[in-house]
Amino acid sequence: LASELLISEIFGPTWQGEGQQAGRLAAFVRFATCNLACSWCDTPYAVFFDEHKASYHQDKKAYDPKVEIQRMPATEVAEIVTSLPIPKSTLIVISGGEPMLQVEGIIELCAELADRGYYYYALETAGTRSASRLAQGLNLPQSMHVTVSPKLANSGNPYNRRRMPHILEEYNRFGSDFKFVVKVASDLNEVDDIVQTVGINPNQVWIMPEGTKAGDVVWNARHFRDEVLSRGWNLTLRQQVIMFDEKRGV
Ligand code: SF4
Repeated sequence: LASELLISEIFGPTWQGEGQQAGRLAAFVRFATCNLACSWCDTPYAVFFDEHKASYHQDKKAYDPKVEIQRMPATEVAEIVTSLPIPKSTLIVISGGEPMLQVEGIIELCAELADRGYYYYALETAGTRSASRLAQGLNLPQSMHVTVSPKLANSGNPYNRRRMPHILEEYNRFGSDFKFVVKVASDLNEVDDIVQTVGINPNQVWIMPEGTKAGDVVWNARHFRDEVLSRGWNLTLRQQVIMFDEKRGV
């Protein structure tokens, strides 16, 4: 039975803004809802739907789910994606929110897209939900580039909710990249702890500055760039912020 997906927004063409594929032509499918509540979340309209949850976000704003969430089957999502003015080689980025809350929907959507000749997928997850069903349903890692973004203490989420080493180990076995949002240089010690515990290869570690304004992104990155270099990790900026600031749907 086909499931209904909870979708925040679908847009493109744009560029993938972050990580190993930054700069690549992309279309985005943003899944709504998330099990975490990061204070600096840059897509609060996909996550914060009541006053209590909104109190954890720096903007303290609750969004109306009737306005922000669209329910539709995977076929309809695929129809919208493939009606965008994009070549079939475009990277389809499945993001959120936390898309892994709707793992069956991800698998159905990729099948629908493949039926239409779109074969390049990327997934972004915070790594708090098991990867095994996805790996089984999609034959990871060949079929999809997965980036796991484990949340650090700077996100404001309690330790037990944001840090799940056994799940990160699953994603690591499937060859995922790991991307960490860093605010200050001392956050890198926490990253190092995760890298050691999970056994992540340094070439799969990406450090990304926090910031929803171009100036903040660049300023933060300059602040800890030498420390990232000395640890032998990758650095990514946020191209979408530098190009578009906080504009939605880009
Ligand atoms: S995990 Fe991602 S989508 Fe969820 S609250 Fe944090 S930044 Fe936002």
